[in-house]
Amino acid sequence: MFTQNYECEVTQIMNNLPENSADFSETENTAEVLEILMDFTETLFYNFKTTDIFQKAFEQIAAYLQICKATVWRYTGTRIQSVISLYETGVPVDDKTQIEEKQMHAATGDHFIYRLYRCGNAPALTHTQRRVLEHVFKTLHTYLNRQISFETAQYALTHDMVYRCLNTNGLNIELERYRNEGLDFREYATVFMNVCKFKTINTKIGFENGNKVLHHIVNYLKDLLDEEECFAHVGGDNFSLFLKQDTLDKKLQAIDGMSCDIMHEGMNHRLRINFNMGVFRIDTNEEDIPHYLENANIALGFAKQSETHNIVQFNQEKRTMYEFSKMLENSLIPALHNGDFQVYYQPKVELDSFCVTGAEALSRWFHNGSAIRPDSFIPIFERNGMIIQIDFHIFTQVCRTIRNWMDNGIAPVTVSVNFSKISLETSGFVNHLLRITEKYGVPSKYLEIEFTETCCMENEEKFNEILAQLKQAGFMASLDDFGKGYSSINMLKNMNFDILKLDRVFLTLDEERGRIILDSIVKMAQDLNIQIISEGVETLEQITYLKKLKCEKAQGYFFDQPLTAEDFTERLHNRYYTMQ
Ligand code: C2E
Ligand code: MG
Ligand code: MG
Repeated sequence: MFTQNYECEVTQIMNNLPENSADFSETENTAEVLEILMDFTETLFYNFKTTDIFQKAFEQIAAYLQICKATVWRYTGTRIQSVISLYETGVPVDDKTQIEEKQMHAATGDHFIYRLYRCGNAPALTHTQRRVLEHVFKTLHTYLNRQISFETAQYALTHDMVYRCLNTNGLNIELERYRNEGLDFREYATVFMNVCKFKTINTKIGFENGNKVLHHIVNYLKDLLDEEECFAHVGGDNFSLFLKQDTLDKKLQAIDGMSCDIMHEGMNHRLRINFNMGVFRIDTNEEDIPHYLENANIALGFAKQSETHNIVQFNQEKRTMYEFSKMLENSLIPALHNGDFQVYYQPKVELDSFCVTGAEALSRWFHNGSAIRPDSFIPIFERNGMIIQIDFHIFTQVCRTIRNWMDNGIAPVTVSVNFSKISLETSGFVNHLLRITEKYGVPSKYLEIEFTETCCMENEEKFNEILAQLKQAGFMASLDDFGKGYSSINMLKNMNFDILKLDRVFLTLDEERGRIILDSIVKMAQDLNIQIISEGVETLEQITYLKKLKCEKAQGYFFDQPLTAEDFTERLHNRYYTMQ
């Protein structure tokens, strides 16, 4: 029964040949063979992406080689990925079927096994037929490789190739598709999230394991999300998600704090993975898709800054603040060039004589007619690293002013300049300062560098090295805002500061407690040979109090607000304050 059918099919194949076809098993007509081969090849290469392309191509060549079926098996390593049927005539395969097989590797590292099934009663292949067969294998392989490259390129446009999930573009396209299908976006939320301390994870368990953590997150999300929810890996340790609002809280809870087992140095480590998350509960169907994702990203920015909340909901006020920051970021470089950044000088005064002995340089940004105080822009520029430009700009302006005093016969006073911890990361920080002082011919003893405690906390050793270099170069160094944060006495003992700037918080303490604390700080500083200056002095009572404690210097509105360079220069002509 089977044999009969089979023979019948072979006959059909033979009958389907063009009328003038030669009996190929008998004669080898080179021109015609070539023609058939060309037809086969051209069908594949000029009809790219046609659905039944292989079927059509094999119809050109099947009779010549008596092929009744063709398949290709795709393997990754030893694992089978897929079996593709290339040609089918309906002729069943049995133990008489002759199988011609060839294995070839693809550029992706996968390998393919091509199988061509020849009718059981087909005569043995002639030499020419065998060469044609070889050519068929190679043509098929070239074609498949081209198709795979094309599909890979298509996939890469919308997917992350390492983690095998959507990328930003893919997420946009997917959400656009949901929208076209009429999904009500008001039932959904977008979430932007970022792994907390991923840098530390990478440093502690290695880059490779860091990647495994990201793989774990991707797989976890794939399992957790429902249909019509989706997510994308949007680079680094960032993910954006599109989730239903009714199960949102439950899902966010499940994601934040997920655990992941990682082998490191022969030991299994169970990591708890926490996230900063920005959440936007979509409230309108009218906006563009990128707008929904951006709102969640804006909220994420706030979550990253917050010390208490790792999940932050978007609201309009946050967008306004975000736009303000962006506006400042975009205006910074032109502002530096246009001279919109000015240095104000707040006098430092000796309490015994009321004589000006120095100043602190404070930056002011004149933007659209009003002065922006540093507290509003410094956190923004610390985050994007642009603070470095501001700090060195202010330092340069100060050197220029001191040079001016020197050129005009005004005895300079030491001016302190604030430097952010971010600026300290500049390689060759002290050399950079020296290059500027040398450019203006200003002795380094006229410059003092103010650091806040956050500069010293992260890498004590490195910071001490910078302090040593500053001293070596002749600069003074002060610890600013002592008492404002978590300042520790140890910091004073372990680090070689010249000056301690007491925050004005001490002046607000109730008299008895404040006196005890201040008294011991002043004593300790004196023992350590560190000068003390009190900031934010506003009243005569405070001055009297500080003098009693033997605090030698002060700075504050009682004497002067920060002054323009011209006004401060005027002050240097008349250095003594009189008591009102
Ligand atoms: P800071 O270094 O502690 O500067 C003292 C701040 O206290 C200044 O605020 C000053 O105007 C203010 N102040 C002075 N006397 C009084 C007073 O009697 N009462 C009160 N209530 N406040 C007084 P400003 O200029 O707004 O600066 C704030 C902070 O911004 C500074 O604190 C400093 O840490 C930072 N900063 C200023 N300019 C720069 C800069 O160029 N680079 C960096 N990295 N930070 C800067
Ligand atoms: Mg300061
Ligand atoms: Mg201060």
